[in-house]
Amino acid sequence: MSEVTMPEVQGNLVYKCIGCGQTYDIYEFVYTCPQCGSLLKIENTLFGELLKTPPDTWKQIFDSRRNTTLGELSGIFRFHELILPIIPLEDIIYLGEGQTPIVRANPELSAWVGAPFFVKNDGLNPSASFKDRGMASAISFLNHAIRVKNLDSVLGICASTGDTSAAAALYLSYLPKSKVSAVVLLPQGKVTSQQLSQPLGSGAQVIEMPGVFDDCMRVVEELAQNYHVFLLNSKNPVRILGQKSYAYEIAQQLGWDTGDLVVVVPIGNAGNITAIMEGFLDLKKLGIVGELPTILGVQSHHADPVSRWRSTGDYRPMKVSPSVAQAAMIGDPVSFPKVRQLVEEFYDDRFHVVSVTESEIMEGMLTANRHGHVVCTQGGESVAGLKKALAERRIPADHRFVLDSTSHQLKFASFQQRYFNDSFDQEYGIHTREELKNNPTTLEASAQKIAQFLGLAKRD
Ligand SMILES: *Cc1c(COP(=O)(O)O)cnc(C)c1O
Ligand SMILES: [Zn+2]
Repeated sequence: MSEVTMPEVQGNLVYKCIGCGQTYDIYEFVYTCPQCGSLLKIENTLFGELLKTPPDTWKQIFDSRRNTTLGELSGIFRFHELILPIIPLEDIIYLGEGQTPIVRANPELSAWVGAPFFVKNDGLNPSASFKDRGMASAISFLNHAIRVKNLDSVLGICASTGDTSAAAALYLSYLPKSKVSAVVLLPQGKVTSQQLSQPLGSGAQVIEMPGVFDDCMRVVEELAQNYHVFLLNSKNPVRILGQKSYAYEIAQQLGWDTGDLVVVVPIGNAGNITAIMEGFLDLKKLGIVGELPTILGVQSHHADPVSRWRSTGDYRPMKVSPSVAQAAMIGDPVSFPKVRQLVEEFYDDRFHVVSVTESEIMEGMLTANRHGHVVCTQGGESVAGLKKALAERRIPADHRFVLDSTSHQLKFASFQQRYFNDSFDQEYGIHTREELKNNPTTLEASAQKIAQFLGLAKRD
């Protein structure tokens, strides 16, 4: 077994404006370009140094860390050099995130969808969604900044469709209460009770507001612009750094072979799909993978501005209608300009988006879960999106498919229940199919009665 290669502090990270190209000090905590107002990304100005290490050596380094018992290298920071190379191991906050399994769909489910595929289950993160990846990088960076800049009262804040607040509250609660507090803004009635219980349980200040996510986002953007707060939405590019790990992990789990690969991702605020595209791009630049995969984004037709842009060439924010993929119910994705750049510069015809109906999402989720998965409604969106893209022959069925299930089934149990009860409000446009219904049966505590009910044959 090869020795574990320990990471060293290296590199030089700066914020770089995606509009005018201006750069800013990483410790300034700015979230939009003070010059032109565009989004910022984080760039390692010494990335070129990493090119001196040959691709096979990189693979050995990352593979060697698979066997480590060191928590700091067990999650997303297995890829330290590509995420936050400026911070030492002592500043890393590891709560068990990342390294989620890739699960093969069984033959029945594959046949239903139209091709064999895998689900990479990010519901198995500590707060039960992929947001933990970005929160691990954001909070590790904050922890580092608190130490080196001697900060003593930091307010971490985010707007959320539920899962960002759960992750932010969890990771912030790990830091010293004397220095750090947590506030989350939620659209009232638009997060599930399980999601609401998470930041409350972690001890965050939870503020509910009328409106939808886009309204909360506007408020938090104004707060971040005008007050001293640490923004934990994916608009903060340090979140994107950690979320790139999803791409690195897929590549590693597939033996660093991304030929013919299609990654299927639900799109909400578009932070995740941005991170996944950037992650694969890093691997390509370093020669670790030979080619970029195809990215298939999926949106509900009730919130599909990116899908409309892809088919018409015209981007327009839209007013959303209710969606069971509530975590992705966003009409004006903050990271859209980054997606557009990545597609124009690198992904080109390797980028597709499909729009699916609410019924298709529910059927995708329920059918996957009847075949051994634990996907959420957004995971159901991935399943439905792949099924549709294959049926429309947008993507050949002989490719390899990895679907992102972005959170755990249990967070969205209320939508399953509404489906079983056929009790969706009309605006969802969902009609329950009898064969997908399931409800408990109450019987007497009698073996005989139960045997009778089940029609069991008696032993001789
Ligand atoms: C946040 C979230 C999404 C959408 O991801 P974006 O980065 O906002 O595009 C999808 N699914 C779940 C479960 C989420 O929490
Ligand atoms: Zn700028």
